[in-house]
Amino acid sequence: MLALGAVSYLWATPGVAPGFFDMFFLAFVERLFRPTYRKDDFVLGKKLGEGAFGVVYRVSWAKKPNSKKEGDLVVKKATEYGAVEIWMNERVRRACANSCADFVYGFLEGSSKKGGEYWLVWRFEGDATLSDLIQSKEFPYNVETMILGEVQNLPKGLERENQIIQTIMGQILFALDGLHSTGIVHRDIKPQNIIFSEGSRTFKIIDLGAATDLRVGINYIPKEFLLDPRYAAPEQYIMSTQTPSAPSAPVATALSPVLWQMNLPDRFDIYSAGLIFLQMAFPSFRTDSALIQFNRQLKRCDYDLVAWRKTVEPRASPDLRKGFELLDLDNGIGWELLTSMVRYKARQRISAKAALAHPYFDREGLLTLSFIQ
Ligand code: ADP
Ligand code: MG
Repeated sequence: MLALGAVSYLWATPGVAPGFFDMFFLAFVERLFRPTYRKDDFVLGKKLGEGAFGVVYRVSWAKKPNSKKEGDLVVKKATEYGAVEIWMNERVRRACANSCADFVYGFLEGSSKKGGEYWLVWRFEGDATLSDLIQSKEFPYNVETMILGEVQNLPKGLERENQIIQTIMGQILFALDGLHSTGIVHRDIKPQNIIFSEGSRTFKIIDLGAATDLRVGINYIPKEFLLDPRYAAPEQYIMSTQTPSAPSAPVATALSPVLWQMNLPDRFDIYSAGLIFLQMAFPSFRTDSALIQFNRQLKRCDYDLVAWRKTVEPRASPDLRKGFELLDLDNGIGWELLTSMVRYKARQRISAKAALAHPYFDREGLLTLSFIQ
């Protein structure tokens, strides 16, 4: 069994559509050899968040009989959708662990028939999401300090800010590339779902509750799911409406690379990441109401950023002008990347992998981004 497990592990290389067999067999073997936990192993602490499908708490281990049980954790107590989120986290842990928060374990507490809850356990990555950080007046210098670990006494200015923003964008795109190469589309990329990991000093993605795994047809766009309208791309469906329902798992495994190429569902996340880039570059779009207003303006311009710029630039506020100036550095290479991400047609948007190779990332960031290449 172990040998088979090893073979299937090698087989399931990220970026290659894994077969039906190894996906499920691997999950089974891994599950067999990992420690199992239950409710009583954890002590609930402060509530960190409450979404439509679950509540998140900070927790600690009840007893610490071994060295693995160290450090703080978070638990999400979720409704029926928790099962899908556990699946996604297990998959990410095997295929692209660095993209997302470190997943420890997931289980059903109680019986699913009697309204049991799914418990999802992660390591506590840190106190701040990108949303908290961009709301600060100090942004982006607060992030520079967190990434480099100490206050830098270098001269502040547009160039420096651009360098910090470039580093953050590089980390987000790196994490997204990991997910997309694994066959997962997140569908809820926003600053609230990007956490700063104090351990690795990088940004990681959280909240796979809305994610869809197209390689096996898991969570194939449930009709009742509402996308966050502030960051959602204009397309309502991320797969062509010609593909009416979720194909069964084996069929999806065989077909999905083809469906993926036809529909490029990953570009939905790219649009959302582009809006994050925009919020980082323009201080005036960092509040919810300002972002909603921007979305309205962009819609009026048929989602054409260049047309939008023409309408707002002549009477731009100093904050708005500052954003354009930052994106215009180095012959407008930042503006070029932004306009390749925020486009009406999914097909015309750049992929996460291509974005990482974009000349915007050629100049050195805060850290060398060599780990990306
Ligand atoms: P939801 O949006 O469904 O409520 P999330 O998974 O986005 O659930 O988590 C809610 C909040 O909990 C996040 O915004 C973040 O503040 C915190 N959080 C989630 N996962 C972690 C983690 N691994 N480490 C630290 N904080 C976390
Ligand atoms: Mg969330």
